[in-house]
Amino acid sequence: KLLADVIPPTDIGVSFDDIGALENVKDTLKELVMLPLQRPELFCKGQLTKPCKGILLFGPPGTGKTMLAKAVATEAGANFINISMSGITSKWFGEGEKYVKAVFSLASKIAPSVIFVDEVDSMLGRRENPDKERVLVLAATNRPFDLDEAVIRRLPRRQLFCVVSLSCCKKILIVILAKEELSPNVDLEAIANMTDGYSGSDLKGLSFHPF
Ligand code: ATP
Repeated sequence: KLLADVIPPTDIGVSFDDIGALENVKDTLKELVMLPLQRPELFCKGQLTKPCKGILLFGPPGTGKTMLAKAVATEAGANFINISMSGITSKWFGEGEKYVKAVFSLASKIAPSVIFVDEVDSMLGRRENPDKERVLVLAATNRPFDLDEAVIRRLPRRQLFCVVSLSCCKKILIVILAKEELSPNVDLEAIANMTDGYSGSDLKGLSFHPF
C-alpha cells in the first residue's frame, strides 16, 4: 500500500506568487509557519514562544486551500506529504492509527515537511506532533462544523478562506492569466465585475474559455 504522496519542494510547482489575492492569509502563514520550519533552533532555546505545529484551513471548495499548503512547503523548502482522508479510510480501513503513526514517522525522517490532510476527520486527533520536529500539519476542510473535537484541539489555529470579493477577482485573474497571451481587448476590470463571488477555481475554469 502506498503510504502517501510525497513531493519534494523543488517539484511542487506552486509558490505564494501563483496565488492571487489572499494577502492576509499568506502573511499569516508566512509569519506562523515559515520560521519554525526553517529555523527550528530559534524555538528550542526558549527565546520564542512555542512554534505553531498545525493549522486548520477551512472554506468553500476551490478557494485556494490546497494551493496555500503547497506554497508553504515550497517556500520553506519542505517536502509536501499529501494525504486525503477519503483515500485512507478506503485503503487503510481499521488501521487508521497505524497509518497516521507511519506518516508522522516518515515526515520526521524527511523533515522539514508539511503534511497536508485534505478532508480532515477524527483520525488525526490520535497523534501528537512533537514540538521539536520540523513537521507541520496543514489540514483542510469544507465542513468545519462537522469536525471532531479532537482535531480542533490539535489544530488550534484556524484560518478562514472566503469566496473572493470583487477586488480579489481581478487580482486572481491577473495571476491565473499571467502566462497567457491576452488580446488587448480583454478588459479584466469588466470580467472582474461579472465574476463577483466566484472562487479561484471558478476563475481558473473561466480562463479555459476564450473571452
Ligand atoms: P477543495 O476544498 O475543493 O479541495 P481548495 O480550497 O483546496 O479546494 P485549490 O485546490 O487550492 O482549492 O484551488 C483549485 C484551483 O483553483 C487551483 O489549482 C487554482 O488553479 C485555482 N485557484 C484557487 N484559488 C486561487 C487563487 N487565489 N489564485 C490563483 N488560483 C487560484
